Amino acid sequence: MRSALAFVLLAAACGGSKSPSATPAPPVAETPPASKQPEAPPTPPGKPVTNRSLASIGLDPDALDRTADPCDDFYQFACGGWVAKKQIDADKPMAQRSFVDIEDRNLEYEHGILEKLRTDPGNDPVNKQLAAYYGSCMDEAAIEKAGLSPVKPLLATIDKVKNPKSLSAAITQLHAAGFGLVFGMGPTQDSADATKVIIGMDQGGLGLPDRDYYLKDDDQSKMLKAAYEGYVASMLVELGHKADAAKKEAADVVALETELAKVSKDKVARRDPKTMYNRLDKAGVAKAAPSFDWTAYWKAQGLDKETAVTVGAPDFFAGLDKLMASTKPEVWRNYLSVQLVSRAAGSLTKKIEETQFKFYAALTGQAEMEARWKRCVGRTDGALGDLLGQVFVRDRFAGASKSAAEEQVHAIVAAMEANLDALPWMDAATKTKAKAKLAAMTYQIGYPKKWKNYTFKLDPKTWGANSLAARKWETARQNAKVGKPVDKDDWQMTVPQVNAYYDPQLNGMVFPAGILQPPFYSVDASIPVNLGAMGVVVGHELTHGFDDQGAQYDAVGNLANWWQPDTEKAFKARTKCVIDQYEKYDVIGGGHLSGANTVGENIADIGGVKLALAGYRALRATAPDTVIADGFTEDQQFFLGFGQAWCAKMRPDFEKLLATIDVHSPPKWRVNGALTATPEFGRAFRCKATAKLTPANACVVW
Ligand SMILES: [Zn+2]
Repeated sequence: MRSALAFVLLAAACGGSKSPSATPAPPVAETPPASKQPEAPPTPPGKPVTNRSLASIGLDPDALDRTADPCDDFYQFACGGWVAKKQIDADKPMAQRSFVDIEDRNLEYEHGILEKLRTDPGNDPVNKQLAAYYGSCMDEAAIEKAGLSPVKPLLATIDKVKNPKSLSAAITQLHAAGFGLVFGMGPTQDSADATKVIIGMDQGGLGLPDRDYYLKDDDQSKMLKAAYEGYVASMLVELGHKADAAKKEAADVVALETELAKVSKDKVARRDPKTMYNRLDKAGVAKAAPSFDWTAYWKAQGLDKETAVTVGAPDFFAGLDKLMASTKPEVWRNYLSVQLVSRAAGSLTKKIEETQFKFYAALTGQAEMEARWKRCVGRTDGALGDLLGQVFVRDRFAGASKSAAEEQVHAIVAAMEANLDALPWMDAATKTKAKAKLAAMTYQIGYPKKWKNYTFKLDPKTWGANSLAARKWETARQNAKVGKPVDKDDWQMTVPQVNAYYDPQLNGMVFPAGILQPPFYSVDASIPVNLGAMGVVVGHELTHGFDDQGAQYDAVGNLANWWQPDTEKAFKARTKCVIDQYEKYDVIGGGHLSGANTVGENIADIGGVKLALAGYRALRATAPDTVIADGFTEDQQFFLGFGQAWCAKMRPDFEKLLATIDVHSPPKWRVNGALTATPEFGRAFRCKATAKLTPANACVVW
């Protein structure tokens, strides 16, 4: 549940037209038509120039498209060459110079480790656990022989559903086994008192990735709904239903999910932390859904003693209650069976996984399923992340990366502090609070302070049982957090993951070792390039603490307003400026980006660039020389480092999917949008005042 509140990087305004930060761009020197690369501005006086190549400082000269005008489309300038040449792998929905390529390298490395352990686990208990989990996942013969048997006991429970009481009993058992079907439940920090962990509940139960797909009538929604219905029918056939009957049954299942979608909140409503915090407590939940046997439910989840519950979408539970009685038991049985097998597909046979992949391919356009070893490495990371993480850190996370990342964090925190002092729209009292929040912000780099022990039993021969045991164990571990003090060192990501996050309730940032790799970070890259890539990530996560959502939490993580009313008004106007800026950007299929859905990420991108730029300049201030790389100044190198970290190419279906569900803007707009709000960019590239990325009034929030 907590992850719903954390802002992930991948997987965050201005007084309208009167932004004081908007500075007119200086006149530009004419450049020869063969290359749009602008002339380098004069080098700072007093510093000797060192000439280097782009490749030697960590940039890719072949990724550039020198025919593009950087001032009109910097993403194309930084990445056009790469995009033109790059082929998307058949087993991926997209290619990306940073995330996807690093993931591939991390995966290859983990594969080598796990294959070695599989053949020779030795006597080390950690190695034996890894070998048993990964090895059993690779044992396809045993998996085919087991068939559906790993989920048979749960399917038998679902078969007994004949009224609201037995339906409630089935959902209860599924949740205890770690299958959070129909609705979500788990530990969450109390927004009113961040030192406490209470129970969080939320809407759920949908097989399609967004409620809108059930409710909207555009071609994409209709196509995906039809593909999903076909998938449900195929899964019912796999479960032993006759093909003709399965078609009709699938339509009923989708109709039930459509009813659940109708009582679900939409994604923009879900971005408001205040209306997502509803302390109904157990009594209120029981009142909202009286048909459900909550006493038995809480007991089965090991939560019978706790009473504090916050509910993200209270109307959902009232709606669910009605559907428990009004929908035929047979439809509930089919729905739960398909949902269970869908979630457990990775624990089951090749046929089940292939059936599921066909639907995934309709969503993403991906041509082929990933090789089994890739899926098994990913699952081992998911279930035993801290064991694999220990090995990963030993071999792939040199000490230098950690100290360099710390240096970056310090430079960026200092930049934010100076920036707060200079903010023209913030009053002194609010500034004091903002600084207190910044001072209290924690960061963790590389790996957690303590590693988890995984105490469930593993048998090298039974994959299905192993994966279900891991799921059940993790669910019980999560539930056990309720009522205990917050564990600030329990990460929401594993160490080899290529990502980062800021958690507003912890007021803390996490940068796993997985992301501290080239092209985000390299010991061989120059300071401007490292700060342009990894530094922007650090600045992005820090800014999440002050985006439209993060700004509603105080220094200790409570949902509490620390803003003076006039400053809050100015902040909201600036937020609105960012919404309007990004709302204009086109997305695949002819539509426009949702400025409201992506505003938190866009504010973080704009802030990230600004802070990292100031951070790099501070780190280079005392340098004895200034580096010109193939004609590019250090500021230009910084912006190229930023742009090239986001070079991406997506399958059209996947791009459409992300345009609907992702809280991040597409890579092109993450780059061009953030630079449009960065007046220093226009100056660095000597853009004309009429260029697309140098608007008269830039949206600057932080
Ligand atoms: Zn983010």
